[in-house]
Amino acid sequence: MYDPLVEHDIGQGAVYPSSYWAAQVQNSGSTKAITADQSTDVVVVGAGYTGLSCAYQLAKRFNREVIVLEAHQTGWGCSGRNAGFVLRGTGRLGLAQLTQRFGAECAGLFHQEYGEAITQVKRMISAGNIRCDSQPEGYLKVAHNAAMAADLPDQAAFLQRQFGYQAAYLSAQQLKRDYMHNTQAYGAIKFPDCFGVNPLALAQGYAAMVQQSGVKLYTGSPLQNWQRTADGGFLLQTPGARVRCKHLVLATNGYTPKGLYPALNRACLPVLSSIIVTQALTQAQLEQSGLQHTQLVMDTRALKYYYRKLPDNRILFGGRSAVYGKDAEKAVYPARLLAALKTCFPMLADLRCDYHWSGWVAVSYDDLPRVCEAEPGLFYAAGYCGSGVSFSTLAGVRLAEQASGVAVPPLPIYQSRLAPFPLPAFRRLGQQGYYQWGRFKDRFL
Ligand SMILES: Cc1cc2nc3c(=O)[nH]c(=O)nc-3n(C[C@H](O)[C@H](O)[C@H](O)COP(=O)(O)OP(=O)(O)OC[C@H]3O[C@@H](n4cnc5c(N)ncnc54)[C@H](O)[C@@H]3O)c2cc1C
Repeated sequence: MYDPLVEHDIGQGAVYPSSYWAAQVQNSGSTKAITADQSTDVVVVGAGYTGLSCAYQLAKRFNREVIVLEAHQTGWGCSGRNAGFVLRGTGRLGLAQLTQRFGAECAGLFHQEYGEAITQVKRMISAGNIRCDSQPEGYLKVAHNAAMAADLPDQAAFLQRQFGYQAAYLSAQQLKRDYMHNTQAYGAIKFPDCFGVNPLALAQGYAAMVQQSGVKLYTGSPLQNWQRTADGGFLLQTPGARVRCKHLVLATNGYTPKGLYPALNRACLPVLSSIIVTQALTQAQLEQSGLQHTQLVMDTRALKYYYRKLPDNRILFGGRSAVYGKDAEKAVYPARLLAALKTCFPMLADLRCDYHWSGWVAVSYDDLPRVCEAEPGLFYAAGYCGSGVSFSTLAGVRLAEQASGVAVPPLPIYQSRLAPFPLPAFRRLGQQGYYQWGRFKDRFL
């Protein structure tokens, strides 16, 4: 599997991974590679949610002339591979930690922005009439042990008191009665406004909107290298053509290859997250497991598990995976996820795994993303730390605003660049150390 920390280039024109999502959607096939030299106002690199949302805003709201270059297919990166949890938030810091780091007023702004991100996804689904299997709202953050559960009532009360957000605490008994017979669930907080989608269908829906708004979207068209021109613009090289532009937006996130923009590659740690999708549960299995609802679920482990029931009664179950891309396809990783699912739900011991795939999420050094003008005329948004379905859509809006000289909310993540990792060559060693610690913490603390 392509590994952004190892490979200089991302390659060209690969098909989608054999995911459940790819099996569900039809590739519209209406995009081609770029073959003729062109000049344009803005080039957006990467056709995930960030790039597509940015291109849409630039064209529709700011009347800019835009080209999108995607190395492979629409949503080939994380946007077509994720679990489809449209969650409130991004990065790895909760609102309590944001309050500690930036103060209550700033945390309030984050809270508003996270709500706006969900609303923006809903607006796009509605404006594009996107059929992406949106599920009824609700996300359960489930304590995986008694120690984590002890803190949940206070956490829910804090969200209500500080932000007026209607988070609800659920005791272990309520959780069991209404939602799941998970042997490792000790209580939960319910977030009312999050929901599940088919992520690849969402990305393809965005792509259709982008094309309808006059943007030229080229797939199979990697940006291989670029240089500055005398007028402060950019000259971009793809295998089939050269493109000149005034502004360049890098929406390559966790898939940024080593050679594209080293400052961005050094500031992200690409971490593999893997998903399995099981065979469909029978009615008896649904009743025995309690999984008769479509709530999104994530636990409180350091190395988190996340799951949900899909519209056809299969279970999607995800978690951390291999450290290196070359190991991503090893059978041990889906086997571990299936075993973890069965440990939580022993009544599903006979369940088979039908699909397995992985993708690179971009972890930043300070656990927060950035959406910024990194140098004159060059913009990027990256570092969502595995929580980016809703935020990437809003990040695209904020990128378009920044590139068009419009003020964005005064949040720290819009005012600076991603910090490089110290000793970037040793990022993977740090990750392995974190995994060891996480396994220990999840088991014994
Ligand atoms: C297994 C998994 C599960 C996840 N689950 C969730 C979830 O449930 N909820 C949630 O909020 N987040 C989730 N995430 C994270 C979420 O998917 C991402 O944060 C989000 O999709 C990022 O979108 P993006 O557009 O920024 O990047 P991407 O979708 O990764 O897009 C980047 C694109 O850039 C292209 N590219 C890179 N280099 C070049 C180049 N040189 N030239 C041209 N194109 C290039 C790539 O091909 C890629 O298509 C998950 C991620 C994974 C991997």
